[in-house]
Amino acid sequence: MTSTIDPKTIGKPQHPRRHVRTLTGYLPETDASGKEKWPKGEEKVWKAGMRGLDKDVPDITKSFVNHVQTSLARQPYNLDELGAYQAAALSVRDNLLVNWNETQLNYTRKTPKRAYYLSLEFLMGRTLDNALLNLGLKDQYNDGVQQLGFNMEDILEKERDAALGNGGLGRLAACYLDSSASQELPVWGYGLRYQYGIFQQLISPEGNQLEAPDPWLEHQNPWELPRLDVSYEVRFYGHSERGNDGRAVWTGGQEVLAIAYDVMIPGYGTKTTNNLRLWESKPKRGFDLNSFNAGNYEGAVESSNSAAAITSVLYPNDHTLKQQYFWTAASLADILRRFKNTGKPITEFPDYAAIQLNDTHPTLAIPELMRILLDEEELSWNQAWQIVTNTFFYTNHTVLPEALEKWPVPLVEHVLPRHLQIIYDIVTVEKKFPGDRDRLGRMSLIEEGFPKQVRMAHLACIGSRKVNGVAELHSDLVKTTILKDFVEFEGVSKFGNVTNGVTPRRWLDQCNPQLSDLITKTLKIDKGVWLKDFTKLEGLLQFTEDKEFREKWAAVKQSNKERLAKYVQSTLGFTVRTDAMFDVQIKRLHEYKRQTLNILGVIHRYLTLKNMSAAERKKANRKVVIFAGKAAPAYYIAKLTIRLIVNVARIINDDPETKEYLQLYFLPDYSVSLAEILIPASDISQHISTAGTEASGTSNMKFCINGGLLVGTVDGANIEIAEEVGESNVFFFGHLTPAVEDLRYQHTYHPIPIEQKCPALAHVLNEVSAGRFGDGHVYEPLLNTVRQGDYYLLTDDFDSYIASLAMVDEAYLDRDEWIKKSIRTTAKMGKFSSDRAILEYAESYWNLEQTPVPSS
Ligand SMILES: *Cc1c(COP(=O)(O)O)cnc(C)c1O
Repeated sequence: MTSTIDPKTIGKPQHPRRHVRTLTGYLPETDASGKEKWPKGEEKVWKAGMRGLDKDVPDITKSFVNHVQTSLARQPYNLDELGAYQAAALSVRDNLLVNWNETQLNYTRKTPKRAYYLSLEFLMGRTLDNALLNLGLKDQYNDGVQQLGFNMEDILEKERDAALGNGGLGRLAACYLDSSASQELPVWGYGLRYQYGIFQQLISPEGNQLEAPDPWLEHQNPWELPRLDVSYEVRFYGHSERGNDGRAVWTGGQEVLAIAYDVMIPGYGTKTTNNLRLWESKPKRGFDLNSFNAGNYEGAVESSNSAAAITSVLYPNDHTLKQQYFWTAASLADILRRFKNTGKPITEFPDYAAIQLNDTHPTLAIPELMRILLDEEELSWNQAWQIVTNTFFYTNHTVLPEALEKWPVPLVEHVLPRHLQIIYDIVTVEKKFPGDRDRLGRMSLIEEGFPKQVRMAHLACIGSRKVNGVAELHSDLVKTTILKDFVEFEGVSKFGNVTNGVTPRRWLDQCNPQLSDLITKTLKIDKGVWLKDFTKLEGLLQFTEDKEFREKWAAVKQSNKERLAKYVQSTLGFTVRTDAMFDVQIKRLHEYKRQTLNILGVIHRYLTLKNMSAAERKKANRKVVIFAGKAAPAYYIAKLTIRLIVNVARIINDDPETKEYLQLYFLPDYSVSLAEILIPASDISQHISTAGTEASGTSNMKFCINGGLLVGTVDGANIEIAEEVGESNVFFFGHLTPAVEDLRYQHTYHPIPIEQKCPALAHVLNEVSAGRFGDGHVYEPLLNTVRQGDYYLLTDDFDSYIASLAMVDEAYLDRDEWIKKSIRTTAKMGKFSSDRAILEYAESYWNLEQTPVPSS
């Protein structure tokens, strides 16, 4: 393919700015004191034309009916619930847009430093309820919709989750956007607009996970605004050569268009409404004319298909190099264009933009900014590197060696030839440790081997101003393991910690309205206050001795269990008993998260119950165990774990001797919306990763906020939760991080037979092998991960795990004491609001200031 594109135009707006003019009367002059001065009579014209915010029920019903009539072109006499959802959503969107416009205008006028959160995943869930809450229009909309003959709860159920993420990392990005807007911080998100989000999980009758596509855009998505005029060209392949002036020129290859879609992110109780910009890939207009001329129609269409394919799917647990570059190139071009509109010199870029890399997925932004500064802005290497290393910030999300991102050098060279040159030019390390070849090898951006690979975490670290982990323990591990050499090279002050948080709006007020009401009434503090100053929850402590309050607290939990049971009954047809303790583990299926430990523990409990006399069983704690989570489609062992859970459930739930005391469910298709039903219903939840493997976890926080207790290992944010709520309110078990390495060494070099080391576990494994839960052969590969090697240390932790579950039972049977623990837990969770976390990023990392929208 020959190119007609001047490389200088890459990353610049595709269309020259159209001639724009200001509506008469709009943008008043400001006088010296900053007061707006309107030309005579014009204010009226403007104000008459501009849509204001809906305030009361008649505004809302009017706008709803308007949208039915015009946007949806439906007749008012045959509107279904989906139509009602769409009309409600469109009218809410109008309100969001009023605030969104004011927010963006405010940023343009004040030109504050902005932060950009680059994340390949945003696990947003549903929007309507959150938008109503944040706008403060929930009651008004409930009434308005009611007046028109609909019920808000049913309408809310019609919305599909926006599931543009795999799990915790994507949900964290969503919580951070909510908190940024709520804290009036000028933060934009940048991501990809996947046509298909994370797959829908189905469970076959045999218990196998099946994956179905998630066509979430099937119906019109009212929450996004296509910006067809905001587009950039992104190049792949081709070649990079030196021009006469010695500068590199990258030409040829494939050019793809990135089109912007904007999603409004409203803050809670504030006008600030930030933006999440998602890119869609599209073939460049005009196709490849050479192919057409040669009569190669199919060839031309094929290349246009491959352009559209870039953003078509969110790959489970994986992203492609082309996705990563497409997204970072478009985002950077957009950020640079916005900066250039301020008229400041490029050397001041880091004073106006902080770019946060959510994991290593956006690391190509580092060589991409270098490329632009060197080849287009024609800066020197040192000038360019200075700008780059003051702009980027990198959040590490894992220290598991197998999860550290690497790209084969030949692939990078093929797809991004200029970037590979730049990566090879970033060899800052050699100067400091001349002669220390081992260290240079460890620190190199390129890992030796066949093929050689680019180590993205090293590139992200070297190219960033600061690096952080996501909980204290994890941040320490980053400094002492995977980036140890870099700490010695660059100084420890570059490395920090920001413990994750979750938004209390979604994870308390929206998902648990009864608890939220009870808290408001008890504290006698306006919800608008404590939802933003979450440490106010501490006021609940003084009510732990108030019996009436405790009964109300317990009644809310009971009601949430019944809501969950109703959901399971209506969607799956199972009858969950609600007079039992609810024990929940919901998260992606992964060996390090040890769902296997949990299911083997359930089997142990079942076998123990079977061995009891009827009289003994009567004294046992009744328990409902619930799992949910998706496994990566190619992750065989994780899928086998699901299969085992489903088949154990079949036997246990059908056993007349024990079913009163133990029930087990695997709920398919875990999602944000399912989490919102499960979490408020939980008495205890499991966060049982092998010590040192879970960077933080965020579902542990969600459960505790909702008064659920934890059983867990001394890992990730579990540790800080226990520090806050008190160790007596957390059920810890298992070996600690420093022991893990030695234990693994023993497994390899001095293995002890499992019958000797952990007879209880050996018995459980043998029962599974013997076919007690269906054909035992099926599970051999899973059981062998425990019997041989046992990398995740189940044989080391099983006994203490079972012992801690026994303590949970004992504690639960003391109802009064349990409820006190539950209240104390919620009361001390203030630290884990994502508002606290985002303010730490803003202050200690980005140097960002709150930029409230002036009230008009
Ligand atoms: C919070 C959340 C997660 C993260 O769960 P962890 O247990 O911390 O791994 C994953 N998926 C969804 C849908 C969530 O809401």
